Amino acid sequence: MTNKQVAIRVIKRLQDNGYQALLAGGCVRDMLLGRRASDYDIATDARPEEVIELFKRTLKVGVKFGVVIVLIEGGQVEVATFRTEADYADGRRPGAVEFAGAAEDAGRRDFTINGMFFDPLKKEVTDYVDGQADLKRKLVRTIGRPEDRFAEDHLRMLRAVRFSTQLGFAIEPETFAAICGSAKMIKRISGERIAMELEGILVSPNRSEGVSMLIKSGLAEQIFGGFVEWEREFAVGVLGQLPKKVSFSLALAGFFAGCGTKFAVERLHVLRLSRRQSKQIGFLLSHRGRLVDEQMSLAQLKQLLAEPYFEDLYVLQKAIQKTRYGGRKSVGALIRLRKRIKALGDVELRPEPLLNGRDLMRLGAVPGPALGQLAEEMYVAQLEGELKTSKQAEQWVRKWLRRR
Ligand code: ATP
Ligand code: MG
Repeated sequence: MTNKQVAIRVIKRLQDNGYQALLAGGCVRDMLLGRRASDYDIATDARPEEVIELFKRTLKVGVKFGVVIVLIEGGQVEVATFRTEADYADGRRPGAVEFAGAAEDAGRRDFTINGMFFDPLKKEVTDYVDGQADLKRKLVRTIGRPEDRFAEDHLRMLRAVRFSTQLGFAIEPETFAAICGSAKMIKRISGERIAMELEGILVSPNRSEGVSMLIKSGLAEQIFGGFVEWEREFAVGVLGQLPKKVSFSLALAGFFAGCGTKFAVERLHVLRLSRRQSKQIGFLLSHRGRLVDEQMSLAQLKQLLAEPYFEDLYVLQKAIQKTRYGGRKSVGALIRLRKRIKALGDVELRPEPLLNGRDLMRLGAVPGPALGQLAEEMYVAQLEGELKTSKQAEQWVRKWLRRR
């Protein structure tokens, strides 16, 4: 059973037992737009205890907030009791929830397009917030006064930009003005949650527009700080030149493509990325320009090719070239690089060194920094194709030692 079929089964069961039960929020929006929904959430007037009573297997993850997960037929669906939320003391999460009716439940949601219900059995939309009109107009608009809604929960500002980016909708002018006025407050949100919304914006094919909105609203400056005009324009340009599908890390490298590596790495700390992601972005930024350096030696090329993020580096460099110079000529150096790589055939990029440390000592090298340098220089000569056998390597090493 698909998630949708599971949700419909659960709704039927609830309705058969006299409860109100409807699809709610994002899945209704996506269905009305003819898009595939990422998950199907149910809203009901049944209390959590009543939901638990009705189904054999449930997860009581958020009973306090009125949320129960129902498991059937290998699928699962979130069932939430209609509620209002109150006491946003910290601008991050509600201090209390109160069970309520469907209209109040719609009213606590963030945007009109996210505030609708749908009965999949009667095929009927319930819309207390004029969401359908905004879907037609392609607008992201808060439910209620935007200043109040962003003061309650600051993350909604980034969510507005994310939905606008993903759906290709505009942000309604008053809503956008309120984001500009409240952007400072985004700093109170944890880096992890900021990163999650930012990822939604940056992996979208529409990322360039999304980042323009982050910049115009002041959110980008509040999150990262210290960009100069040129760097911002370059970011929007590079993001627009990246292919449709890219990873979050590659897009972040594109975002910082006009900045120094050290500056970028420091700014990125706030997002609390994984070590792997930070490493990847650091690699991409610190190796900018290398692929268009036509003086690059064979050994350097092989070492770069053996890097796990080589393909990402290539894609990033291509976007940088196009943004900086425009036209076909801008990628000429990259096309020549591709040819050079092709000519290498299937040569091994990271062969075993012809001689190991013990071999080097046997030949008279003394343990210490000089030994490391010798090993490295010999390996470069090997990658360059100057040394093909261990005999040749031994001769080369003897000469090296004699020169010292
Ligand atoms: P996606 O397709 O990205 O999952 P979604 O609309 O389902 O989009 P979720 O974050 O899964 O977004 O939230 C589900 C629903 O819960 C939203 O559609 C909205 O009605 C409500 N919601 C989520 N976060 C908030 C919030 N911070 N403030 C108010 N309502 C929210
Ligand atoms: Mg969702």
